[in-house]
Amino acid sequence: MKCINCGQELGQDVRRCPICKSEQLPKKRKIRKSSVADVEYSYAPKSRIIAGLLQIFFGGFGIGRFYLGYNGIAIGQIFTFPIFFIGGVWGFIDGILILCGQVECDANGIALK
Ligand SMILES: [Zn+2]
Repeated sequence: MKCINCGQELGQDVRRCPICKSEQLPKKRKIRKSSVADVEYSYAPKSRIIAGLLQIFFGGFGIGRFYLGYNGIAIGQIFTFPIFFIGGVWGFIDGILILCGQVECDANGIALK
């Protein structure tokens, strides 16, 4: 790698350039940048309307819950769907509750918009 300031060739893992004494910020910076992007992406607020409607129409498959990231609840609805449509009724009520604001945030704790 090269010095970010003067371009002097440096060995791996050199923190400070011996020529110009400037601090080297190697790969770390890149990793931080991309992880911030990932965080922003996964923390984008989900839509309450979309989640509620998905859950009302496809509640038996837990689609609205999957959308919000509550995979455990979604799988519970799928598995109880064949048992007297429990999952379907549960999913339907769940959708109404989501629309009414009973579910305030997604599985990551991000408030719904
Ligand atoms: Zn330098």
